[in-house]
Amino acid sequence: MACPHAPRCALFSQLKTSHALSVWQTLFCDSGFDRCVRYRLSAVGAAVPPDLLPDGRTHLPHKEKKVGRYDT
Ligand code: SF4
Repeated sequence: MACPHAPRCALFSQLKTSHALSVWQTLFCDSGFDRCVRYRLSAVGAAVPPDLLPDGRTHLPHKEKKVGRYDT
């Protein structure tokens, strides 16, 4: 089952147009959205940083700090 938040996820449109980022769509958006940190934040009404990746990292290479990482 695909992520129900995809139509309003700022990252999803980027994943669809970037081959380098498309692995995130495969691993999370297409079937594992319940593990996605963006999905979890959105589901509780929290703000979702635009550069937050599904695993809790940001997609800026110099920012390696974990943000809201969830282990499932
Ligand atoms: S990045 Fe997360 S919230 Fe956005 S569409 Fe993919 S699974 Fe859903």
